[in-house]
Amino acid sequence: MLATSLEARHVLVERTIAAHPDGTTDVTAPHFYAVSDRAAHLNVDLAEATALQSDRPVRAILTAPQRYLRSRAAALGEEYHQAGIRHLELRMSPFGGEDESLKKIVDGFQIAQDLTEAGLHVTLGYSGNLGQVAVALGHAAAYSVGVGMMEHVNHMTQVNRKSKPPKPLEDGESGGGPQAGVYLPALAYTAPLRVARRLMEQSDLRVRIGCRVGSCGTSVLGPVLDVRGHYLHSRDLEVATLMAKPAGWRPTAELQRLRQALTLRNQINSNYLEVGQPAIKTRTLDSLIVDIERVQAAS
Ligand SMILES: [Zn+2]
Repeated sequence: MLATSLEARHVLVERTIAAHPDGTTDVTAPHFYAVSDRAAHLNVDLAEATALQSDRPVRAILTAPQRYLRSRAAALGEEYHQAGIRHLELRMSPFGGEDESLKKIVDGFQIAQDLTEAGLHVTLGYSGNLGQVAVALGHAAAYSVGVGMMEHVNHMTQVNRKSKPPKPLEDGESGGGPQAGVYLPALAYTAPLRVARRLMEQSDLRVRIGCRVGSCGTSVLGPVLDVRGHYLHSRDLEVATLMAKPAGWRPTAELQRLRQALTLRNQINSNYLEVGQPAIKTRTLDSLIVDIERVQAAS
């Protein structure tokens, strides 16, 4: 109905703009999972209409299967650009997490690169380490995460979860959504709360993975006590440190960060896990390290 009715699109865009609270700096255009050219063109049209109807800057969101984007990213980037869109958040699905192959990462980075080359300010959406490396290598201008969550994209799982009422909390009250994980910068890893607590309880690990920034400075268990505050200041510090470096030095800085994290993850996996405790996955880190090394060798 939307694809065939200008009036229906106008109403949707109006309602979307009206749904943004006062104080919002950017308007997010309505968007759908782009599984075909028809759905993708609908998204471009809706983004353009939003830009025309809104007096605030507009951010378009492109959520699509990675398979579809591989052949279409460059053309789509051009279409968004011609429609007057300059800010785009890219959410490839499925993409991210700790178990990603080199090939998939290389393909994903190429898709971001194609969109960037079309003249767009690309944010790699919902991506932790992958997003930070994409920024360091210049494939994307920015990346986005939730607070202690949303570090990878899986559109199907997310929609499925949203279709059901949230699970009640343990005390029987409603409102239990996804729980924020604990970001451990030394491991480049967001751990589930109980895993982080178990690691922090070991003194020789705590001094290496702990945090003394801000509110964390007043307690030895800082990161697991103020999970969200710790997530914000540690991510903020990491990105600020990276962006303070000249662009040409950023890949080396990321390579060092990821290599140190990999070494520490491997040490934990072989020396500090209790029986039955799953190992921290390292495939994505391995892949990212190989990718940065290849980029450096080529230059
Ligand atoms: Zn902290």
